[in-house]
Amino acid sequence: MTATSLPASGLEGIMFSLAKKTAIVTGGASGIGLAIARQFLAAGALVLIADRRASGAEIARSAQAEFIQTDVAREEQVAAMFDTAREKLGRVDILVNNAGIQPLGVGFKDMTGELLHRTLDVNVNGVAFGIKHAVRSLADGGRVVNLASFVGLLATPGTAAYSTSKAAVIHLTKLGAIELAPRRITVNAISPGTIRTPAVTQIANNPEIPFIERRAPLGRLGEPEEVAALCHFLASDEVAYITGQNIAIDGGLTAGWTEYDLVPPANIQNGRWVDDA
Ligand code: NAD
Repeated sequence: MTATSLPASGLEGIMFSLAKKTAIVTGGASGIGLAIARQFLAAGALVLIADRRASGAEIARSAQAEFIQTDVAREEQVAAMFDTAREKLGRVDILVNNAGIQPLGVGFKDMTGELLHRTLDVNVNGVAFGIKHAVRSLADGGRVVNLASFVGLLATPGTAAYSTSKAAVIHLTKLGAIELAPRRITVNAISPGTIRTPAVTQIANNPEIPFIERRAPLGRLGEPEEVAALCHFLASDEVAYITGQNIAIDGGLTAGWTEYDLVPPANIQNGRWVDDA
């Protein structure tokens, strides 16, 4: 079924509807990407999941999405992903560059060249190839959403390769936005805080979880569906005047510190500021 042959879904005309829209979600076989694919489907879109893992085919089938096995670090595979999307969906309105690897807990001291290369290949080149082929293949008025991270905004220990890659995604977003603006295609980034996905929960006794529960102002991890809701918003027709932006969804993690030891100076007396003599 293609976008043009889609029967009426009843979602036409409803605010933020994605009826008659088509979308590619990279890394859509797990976590945030899978939540985005499900959210788009529920909003009426046709979805192609592109994931490196062959097991994504079964996951896509049960979500009622199309699937293509794709390593986003390989440009020829990204080009083939767009060809398949046009073939199966008719055209491409929305691209979500979500696929990413998260080599956390490795600072410069322990970082190998190989780890750095693979991280940049997937997280930076993968997004750059996506934007490059969107220039050729995305419909006018389309949407690109890139998954960055709060560590692309804030230097945090043990994220040497990963943080670097996500800071680059935020800049790629601005570059894509200005280049695609003449075709009314918006390009935005989402920077999640720590989100409850397999990448986080599959690490035994992951110390990041209690740390975030203490450190994030909202006192908890985020859920993939919360990130998917923001992505849905940015992918909608209604949101046509936001481009080149990075929106954090991190429970307040990048808003400020929750702990800071301060003592009021002697100038404050009975709630009033008393100037020094
Ligand atoms: P996840 O590990 O649960 O899922 C990632 C998916 O991407 C997997 O299905 C995997 O097979 C696929 N993938 C990995 N490399 C690929 C490649 N080269 N080509 C195609 N597919 C590939 O991850 P997640 O936690 O859902 O993260 C999704 C995105 O959100 C990533 O870009 C990640 O960096 C970002 N992010 C996640 C968090 C978090 O806390 N979970 C926080 C900030 C940013």
